[in-house]
This record gives sequence, structure tokens and C-alpha cells, in this order.
Amino acid sequence: MTVAMAIADLQDEVEGRVLRPGDEGFAEAARPWNVAVQHEPDALLEAASAADVAAGVRWAAAQKLPIAAQSTGHGVTDAMYDGLLISTRLLKDVEVDIAARTARVGAGVQWKDLLPKIVPHGLIALNGSSSDVGIVGYILGGGLPVLGRAFGFAADFVRSIDVVTPDGRSRTVDAGHDADLFAVLKGGKGNFGVVTGLELDLIPLTDFYGGSIMYPGEDAEEVFTAFRAWVAGLPDDACPSIALLRLPPEEFIPEPIRGRFLVHLRFAYPGTAEEGDRLIAPMRHVSTPVMDMVGPLGYEQVDLVSMDPADPLPFENGGALLTDFDEDAQRALLDVAGPGKQFPALLVELRLLGGALGKPSPVLDAVSGRDAAWITQAVGVLAPPIAAMVPDAIAAFLEALRPWSTGRTLVNFHGRPGDAEDRARAWSPDAYDAITKAKRRYDPDNLMRFGHAVQLPSGEPAEAALPLL
Ligand SMILES: Cc1cc2nc3c(=O)[nH]c(=O)nc-3n(C[C@H](O)[C@H](O)[C@H](O)COP(=O)(O)OP(=O)(O)OC[C@H]3O[C@@H](n4cnc5c(N)ncnc54)[C@H](O)[C@@H]3O)c2cc1C
Repeated sequence: MTVAMAIADLQDEVEGRVLRPGDEGFAEAARPWNVAVQHEPDALLEAASAADVAAGVRWAAAQKLPIAAQSTGHGVTDAMYDGLLISTRLLKDVEVDIAARTARVGAGVQWKDLLPKIVPHGLIALNGSSSDVGIVGYILGGGLPVLGRAFGFAADFVRSIDVVTPDGRSRTVDAGHDADLFAVLKGGKGNFGVVTGLELDLIPLTDFYGGSIMYPGEDAEEVFTAFRAWVAGLPDDACPSIALLRLPPEEFIPEPIRGRFLVHLRFAYPGTAEEGDRLIAPMRHVSTPVMDMVGPLGYEQVDLVSMDPADPLPFENGGALLTDFDEDAQRALLDVAGPGKQFPALLVELRLLGGALGKPSPVLDAVSGRDAAWITQAVGVLAPPIAAMVPDAIAAFLEALRPWSTGRTLVNFHGRPGDAEDRARAWSPDAYDAITKAKRRYDPDNLMRFGHAVQLPSGEPAEAALPLL
């Protein structure tokens, strides 16, 4: 059978489009948010339903073709050159039960699709710093929320997951059904099949306070020193982070911060304006802020806390969990990325962990980092003239902070995975052990081998290309 015939067979079985590189519509359907990556798989299935996903998985598995899933493409690190790429971006169903405080979302739903349906009812869910991110991809990586210290990892709030495993079976897994698979899906990333949807617990929230303060980058030492002293006195449910930003001189960036080097303090707090004002007050008098946009917010404005880029970018990132961020760590960070340094990255950031993020999960999962104090990452834009310098800059940043690193990352902050040892660093040893055992059981042919896939213990190379048909 020729490739074209095999693809025609799949098209006959599904409602959605099956496209090949070069077909009209392929480039748009395959394009990830991280536009540095250009996929060229044997075929792309733009699934119109969970049944389409199941048909795609069965079709690929029958030929032992690799399978990958993409929703928004925020988390893509490498291009797929063979096999079947299943796009879930059209799986946009959202069902909310306000009384039961639950939401069921399809695998193409972004946080910005869900929040408007729940926030007016006094409910939130645990999105991260950009509501443009896909809910499923984020939660499969554990999901570190803006309000993480107050409520914990987003994966802790998952009730059930609908997944098509590489054997072609559609399963709904939860704490009572395929509990081992349910556990490793939460944090284990796309290792075990293609998720078609999941059900989440929603959280009541009366007050939300937060935003950000920008300071001149030249005052980084003063601001970071004050920040470290300030966070030591914050309550467990206060959620701060800090970044160094090198913003390009682009029109879409507002005038006071366009083209500038800045320190960016972010703050989120699930409490009243009075309490929020009291907590942030010490940081308002450090340096001379360029912009101060902290105050009471509607939760639908949650993106104002981090002000992540809204439009697709070609980027690379790399992260590390830290045990501490003391004076010496601060000096090491500023020596690489601080004032006066030619550091070609858009952003380096530090998010404070602890609080509810440090508590054990109520239900078994594969989320790591609960014992770390900070997650740090560097993000660089892969555009001329700095593109070629970005990977080395990220490596230099991580190397400088190595003495404070736990040696591990969170998979959502890991960046491009390297060899088997580097891939393992995206999880705690226990979680990694559970993931590799489950991988052997649910994906013995190693079909889900893209992105943050673990290498099988038997040593099969994750990137081995299998011929089509
Ligand atoms: C601007 C920005 C802000 C971010 N902020 C945060 C944050 O605050 N907290 C945090 O935890 N993370 C954050 N992230 C990381 C983000 O959560 C991950 O990149 C996540 O994987 C994105 O999911 P996605 O579906 O949008 O992206 P995609 O690139 O579509 O998916 C990423 C990966 O998730 C897996 N996946 C996605 N969908 C499926 C599926 N249906 N079935 C099986 N596997 C699937 C695959 O392995 C896929 O390669 C951020 C990323 C960006 C770019």
C-alpha cells in the first residue's frame, strides 16, 4: 500500500482533515505557538472529535508509526519529521457545572476559553501565567499556577482524564479506574497516549489582588535584595515572582517600557484589596518604579500578573528547580544576566514555590518539585541577530545557578529535552520511575516518543524513525 492510499484510508474513517506537508491548510494547522518549530510529519490529523483521535491512534499504531499530540504548540520543543501528528486544537467543548464546581474541557480548550465561563460565577481554575496556553498540555505537565502557593499544582484538581492509549483503547481514567495511568498522566506529559479531554474541580474565589511592578534594570541588585527579604515574610498564600526583562524596541510594547532592561516583580494574592495593599507596600518603595500596576483585579485579568507575550514567538527556554535563592545565588544570577551584561535572552525569572505547592498531592501523581523552594527559567527569542547566541546564554545561566539547583526541573519549564539523563531531570526520581514503568506497560512500542518522552528502560532510542508502511 502506498503512503497516499494509507492516508486516504484514515481520511475515510475520520470527520476531521488529514493533511500532508505541502497540502493546502497544512502549514496553518501544523504551526505551533513556538514558531521556531516547523513540523513535517508523514501526516497531520486535525481531529474533529475524540472518535477521530481514537481512529488516528489506531491507524498509526497498526503501522507502528510514531504519534504526537499538539494543541496550541506553546510547549513544542522539536519538529516532528515522521509519523502522525494529531492536532487537538478543534476539540473546544467546555461543559461547566457551576453547582458541582466542575468543568469538563476538550483537549483544544485554552484557559482563556474556560475562564469567562466560570469567573462570573465566583469560580476559578488554576491557570498559569498565560491564559493562551492549552489546559490539557499544561496539566499533563503538572501545571504551575499563578496562584500555586495558595492552592497547589493544577494537576491536583483533576477528577478524570479521557485518553486514547497507544493500543487504540479509549479510556476514562480516575482514582478508581486505571489509577496507575491516571497518576502518571498528571505530570508525566504526553508519554501514555493522546488525551481528548479532562474534568477539573473548580475553586471558589471571592477576592483577587495582584499585578506587576517594573523597576529600572540598573537597580536589579537593590530590587532583588529587597525582594528576597520581602518574600521571607509573606504568608503561604501570597504568590510572588521576579524577572529580568530585556524588551525589544517594538511598537506593540508600551512607551515607558519599550526597548528597556527592567526588573519585573509579579504578585498574585487570593485576598482583599486592604490585605493585598499591605503585603505589597514594602516593594512599592524600592528603587523608583517605572510602572506600578498592582491592585485589586477581576480574575479574568489574571494575565496582567505576568504579562507574558500574547503573540506566537520563536523561542527556546531552560529551567531548574532551586533549593534556595540566597545572596550568593543572587550574585551569581546578576553576574550572568544583570546590569551591564550582554545577555541575549528576553527573560530570566524566579517563581517562589512552597505553600500549597510544597504539600503532598491528595491523589497519587507524577508532579515533581514539591520539595523545591524556587523554579527558575531563562527564555530567549530565536530571531536574528541573537538567535544563535540564545542556547549558550541559557546554558550559561543554568550553569551559574547550578550550586543551588536540585538537579531537576519541572517538565513544563524544562525546555528542549536532551539525552536520556537530561530527560529524566524533568521529574523526581520516584516520579520518573513510575513514568518509565507505566511507559513500558501502556506504550511498549514507544509510539509516543516526541517532546518530553522518556526513553524506555530497555534503551530503545526515543528518536528512532520507523519507515511508513
Ligand atoms: C507563554 C508561556 C507561559 C507559560 N506559563 C506556564 C505556567 O505558568 N505554568 C506552567 O506550568 N507552564 C507554563 N507554560 C508551559 C506550558 O504549560 C507547557 O508548554 C504546556 O505543554 C503547553 O501546553 P499546550 O497544549 O498549550 O502546548 P502544546 O505544545 O500543544 O503541547 C505541549 C505538549 O503537551 C503534550 N500534549 C498536549 N496536548 C496533549 C494531548 N491532547 N494528549 C497528550 N499529550 C498532549 C505533548 O507532549 C505536547 O508536546 C508556559 C508556556 C508558555 C509558552
